[in-house]
Amino acid sequence: QAPKNHGDPLVLPPGISSQTFKVFIVRVINIVGESNVDVIKDAQQLGKDSYLDPSKVHDMFYISDEDYFVSSAVVAPRNVQDVQAIIRLSNELVVPLWPFSVGRNVGYGGAAPRVPGSVGLDMGKNMNQVLEVDVDGAYALVEPGVTFSDLHDYLVQNNLRDKLWIDVPDLGGGSVLGNTIERGVGYTPYGDHWMMHCGLEVVLPDGSLLRTGMGALPNPEADSSLPADQQPANKCWQHFNYGFGPYNDGIFTQSSLGIVVKMGIWLMPNPGGYQSYLITIPRDEDLHQAVEIIRPLRTAMVLQNVPTIRHLLLDAAVLGDRKAYSNSDKPLTDTEMDVIAKKLNLGRWNFYGALYGPPPIRDALWQVVKASFSAIPGAKFYFPEEIPENKVLQIRHDTMQGIPSMDELKWVDWLPNGAHLFFSPIAKVTGDDAMAQYKVSRQRCEEFGFDFIGDFVVGMREIHHIVCIVFDRKDPKQRRNAHQLIRTLIDDAAKHGWGEYRTHLALMDQIAGTYNFNNNAQMKLNETIKNALDPKGILAPGKNGIWPKSYDGQAWKV
Ligand code: ADP
Repeated sequence: QAPKNHGDPLVLPPGISSQTFKVFIVRVINIVGESNVDVIKDAQQLGKDSYLDPSKVHDMFYISDEDYFVSSAVVAPRNVQDVQAIIRLSNELVVPLWPFSVGRNVGYGGAAPRVPGSVGLDMGKNMNQVLEVDVDGAYALVEPGVTFSDLHDYLVQNNLRDKLWIDVPDLGGGSVLGNTIERGVGYTPYGDHWMMHCGLEVVLPDGSLLRTGMGALPNPEADSSLPADQQPANKCWQHFNYGFGPYNDGIFTQSSLGIVVKMGIWLMPNPGGYQSYLITIPRDEDLHQAVEIIRPLRTAMVLQNVPTIRHLLLDAAVLGDRKAYSNSDKPLTDTEMDVIAKKLNLGRWNFYGALYGPPPIRDALWQVVKASFSAIPGAKFYFPEEIPENKVLQIRHDTMQGIPSMDELKWVDWLPNGAHLFFSPIAKVTGDDAMAQYKVSRQRCEEFGFDFIGDFVVGMREIHHIVCIVFDRKDPKQRRNAHQLIRTLIDDAAKHGWGEYRTHLALMDQIAGTYNFNNNAQMKLNETIKNALDPKGILAPGKNGIWPKSYDGQAWKV
């Protein structure tokens, strides 16, 4: 019987012969061992479709063909020196690499590479330790494979959860590091993950190792004969982000300029008390007034966390599939939605927030929040303990205090074989902007045969408006429609001056093309840096629309 990694993959890396690929595999096995290499040879190695057991080799929520965004092989380094050896090998043989941490990047492409046939670098399989939690400094230092659930469990198991909380996104299975460098968000006061990171350790495309910020200053007690990644870091690495000179951390986010192998993240001290709440907002048009109420409260931090205004159908989808509410195959009408709202005791919009601190602080803040929202006729106020039957509030109660869950997975099952794409434009926190984005997106969703399922996630001075385009992945027409819908939305948005904060592999070029102020000045800078740091273009080519000079980006259009 031939060894498991013998033979050609389904898709070879571009420009790589079968012979060179074999050489790469033999040599990479020498670096990491056979058990950490997987050549993707047949379609049976695709096919996974569960968030709980995610594919490491292709996009489970494919909108092109299932086998388009697929890796030739997946390699899992055991440590930083393996990463350095692999990237040097890639340079030598000009084999493109696509690093990912856990690969659960659902709605944005999962573990799949932008360029089919790239070698997936599974950073999380073996490098998954919480390296440090410092209680007084209130931070953690993590490796790529540490998931939000892992970090939370770590605090619980070490009796630290009464001291420190983490911040979690809707689902707890993704990596802290991957989510943060993709600039993902969560819902506690520490919801802007990138804002809360502090210090990176990065392997650059030439294999060298960098520590950013204060990490650039050596720890005088470190043994400099050790490999750089094993030397104890500067004591302020996780305390001060900026160090000295140009601040480089940002170029390693949504980036193809380095492989991040360690990251510091600030944790929130237990605030000494917590109360989540739901405010139901009855009418569609009330969104305008709600956002106007929210803006001054949020900028003044009376709203302490990242709260969300969820459209009725997002909550309805967590509580049941579409068939539970309607037999119609047309997008649900306002009248049908009113019936659903009544049945679920929810508003057309539902505002989930939380109060942090001991009772006197919470009471004072709650008085202001309640009085402010009471201006909306028919708004109702609930604490989770008052309505135990409302499952969404129970879930948000956990999420807004940094307890990870998997329950929000459910909304993907709105349709059979449910898959989803995120359309995620940024909006100003004004009633006019939120209303305009809602109207444009709802109208387009319905035009393409989909229900509008969306969420306004309120940051400090902006809204991440998240439109969840749910489609049946086994239905080619729905896949095409979903793809066409998001392409149309991106163009619509650009015409209004709205841009997306993050996107799926298939849309990266289009969105990068919309950020084209002053004759594409930003892209020119990005390309200059890319070609300087990665002259052979081996690291994540095409990521976020940035193509190295060795690639013809046009030829890779999807
Ligand atoms: P999650 O942790 O949510 O499962 P992924 O691991 O899929 O997310 O990471 C999302 C994206 O972030 C990847 O496709 C890749 O572009 C980037 N990324 C993740 N981890 C790293 C890393 N360690 N170094 C460089 N880029 C990374």
